[in-house]
Amino acid sequence: MRLVHTAIMFVACAFAVVQPSAQGQTHPTVRPIKAVRFGKLWDAKGKLWTNAIVIVDGERVRSVTTDTSAIPAGAEIIDLSKYTGLPGLIDVHTHMTMYTDETPGSPMLKQITNNSPAVEVFLARKGAMRTLEIGVTTVRDLSADQYMDIAMRDLINQGEMIGPRMFVSGYGLYATQTPTKKDMAIPGGVPADGVPQVLKAVREQVAAGVDLIKMYASTGTDDDVTGFETYTYEEIKAAVDMAHKFGKKIAIHSYGPDGARDAVCAGTDSLEHATDMDDATIQEMVRRGTYYVPTIDHNRYYIDNGDKIGYAPGYKEKLSAFIPRNLETARKAFKAGVKIAMGSDAIYTMFGQNTRELGWFVKTGMTPEQALQTATGTAAELLGKEKELGAVAPGYFADLVAVEGDPLADINVAIYNVRWVMKAGTVVVDKRKSTKK
Ligand SMILES: [Zn+2]
Repeated sequence: MRLVHTAIMFVACAFAVVQPSAQGQTHPTVRPIKAVRFGKLWDAKGKLWTNAIVIVDGERVRSVTTDTSAIPAGAEIIDLSKYTGLPGLIDVHTHMTMYTDETPGSPMLKQITNNSPAVEVFLARKGAMRTLEIGVTTVRDLSADQYMDIAMRDLINQGEMIGPRMFVSGYGLYATQTPTKKDMAIPGGVPADGVPQVLKAVREQVAAGVDLIKMYASTGTDDDVTGFETYTYEEIKAAVDMAHKFGKKIAIHSYGPDGARDAVCAGTDSLEHATDMDDATIQEMVRRGTYYVPTIDHNRYYIDNGDKIGYAPGYKEKLSAFIPRNLETARKAFKAGVKIAMGSDAIYTMFGQNTRELGWFVKTGMTPEQALQTATGTAAELLGKEKELGAVAPGYFADLVAVEGDPLADINVAIYNVRWVMKAGTVVVDKRKSTKK
């Protein structure tokens, strides 16, 4: 492989490379330089290009230009001049290994625990594909049983499974006592009470090979929208400090304001869900640069699908009452200048609806461009990958999305009109034909 690469370097990186196909079999394919032409291109670096040409060399962007004479001889030209280009989008809160289908008579909640890990990872490829189809080329996955997330991340990186690039957390830490549930089974959760157990659980996740740590600092999940803090400040601080000692970031879940305050003060990198945060907590997030991931839309998904998921009657009322509080907190945080990243909390059959969260962000007062920033540049910063993900610029991964229409005028264009997706230089979605009449 190295010899092949060296040979290519002499001919300006232009010709045959043996690389695994999407199915994972190895066969020779020609991979020339690609020149992707967009009518408009929003690069997430503050520039809207007209008649942009993105020169793609292998997995990365070599350059962005408007000069047709800069296209290398022999380059494969992909003409998307009818479309607007965007960087591949990033969803910073998914549950890829909690994928289910809609088998009649089989509640989705039950499927998650009934499927063996091998079956679940195999089925999850469908959710992964649906995620790509809406232009999401990278996800941060927040809790999984039996390290299915690590398996899936690695299979995708090896080219054995098609899906978004994954950054994963393994098991999420949770406290054994919560006031609201008889059955404590949080899917993908590891019970850890007290500082020693918390430290051990963080160390175990790191040893397993996770990219970051996830901690549940309050009740609230599925149709339970309570937000009681479940950890003490000392326990949260221990998790944050130990994660950071290993060079890992931490994402802390809190539905309510108390867990949010303690997570922020303990130095969490991101705060998930949090509703009803007080002004002091919001100001502290601004001061520290804490990222907020509101996950407003997943409760809309639960309302639409609660019967199939298997929620008890009454869920619609509870979830409907929670959404406006969630939205209001996000509005306040945005106004105050908190860094907001797009996370869908996609689970069950929600994959493919991940970016609907952007519609809620516009309701908080963001412009469509500001909303897109939450799923590109800001999300990449939260991952610590702002030099190679979340923008279309030289040296970045060639993650590109073509949408039909003007996403800066109407965010729905970015949500519903994705026609073509490239991930790391490979076209993974092409729906242009189906849209032609
Ligand atoms: Zn979640």
